[in-house]
Amino acid sequence: MKRHALVTGGAGFLGSHLCDRLLVEGWRVTAMDNLITGDTANIAHHAGNPDFRFVHYDVTNYLFLPEKVDFVFHFASPASPVDYLQLPIQTLKVGSLGTHKALGLARAHGASFLLASTSEVYGDPLEHPQKEDYWGNVNPVGPRGVYDEAKRFAEAMTMAYHRYHGLDTRIVRIFNTYGPRMRLNDGRVVPAFISQALRGEPLTVFGDGSQTRSFCYVSDLIEGIYLLALSGEHEPVNIGNPAEMTILQFAEVIRHVTGSASEIVFRDLPEDDPKVRRPDISRARRLLGWEPRVSLEEGITRTIEYFRGRV
Ligand code: UDP
Repeated sequence: MKRHALVTGGAGFLGSHLCDRLLVEGWRVTAMDNLITGDTANIAHHAGNPDFRFVHYDVTNYLFLPEKVDFVFHFASPASPVDYLQLPIQTLKVGSLGTHKALGLARAHGASFLLASTSEVYGDPLEHPQKEDYWGNVNPVGPRGVYDEAKRFAEAMTMAYHRYHGLDTRIVRIFNTYGPRMRLNDGRVVPAFISQALRGEPLTVFGDGSQTRSFCYVSDLIEGIYLLALSGEHEPVNIGNPAEMTILQFAEVIRHVTGSASEIVFRDLPEDDPKVRRPDISRARRLLGWEPRVSLEEGITRTIEYFRGRV
């Protein structure tokens, strides 16, 4: 009997890549998505695969799956700042009610559970780089609070199910990840700069571009998540690429790799935009023997190939 995984947000950017990996590893996969930010185009290549099933459903509603589930991967959520500003209530609901329902389903099936959490739990961090034992600096009532607090609640709920119900849980804190299947217009810096460069439009750097991020290619991230799922680790684990750069440097990388002559223009910095972000991945290295392998140049080149036909 093949193991059966439920992936909420399975038609999204990361959820769909996770479905691919699970199928390659010999799982049966049910992908659930309400498609408010996901897209069936991301999973269309599994049409006709008897090991794959798509369920169009909102995970914040009561969940019932008749077939035995062995692992629940809870990846549903708007995840770009622009998306969660436009969908603030849905973002809060999927992180809170959706996590509760997904945990409840895992418990009913005696399944393991993995929460896709985020570096946003560290907010605008006062410790750098960010280790898992840093509690963060989050503005609960700012525009990003809807995402940050929902994910912090989701982590608390996951640990409560682990401690109180003995559920076998994992928490991955995902740092900025990029690659094919990101939505061109999701507002995040990678699709924004690549589409601007390919169209010959100016690259819009927010603020003075001195804020930093650390970009991880999607295949590296999925590898870390799969290893975490197989591990017995219940505490949060950062998965991301520690190669940090300023957003201005990142704009230069995009111009270089696309060969674009686009100019760089400066726009207002969004409220509560974290000034720095870089994962400390010692825990992932120690527990999972994991580290990222794909260089920024290689990952961006693959991502550009995906976007080229779509701009
Ligand atoms: N950013 C930018 N120009 C854009 C989009 C984003 O300069 O067109 C900046 C944004 O202000 C942030 C960084 O790039 O400092 C990463 O933003 P993103 O939306 O990708 O995600 P975040 O890391 O803030 O969650």
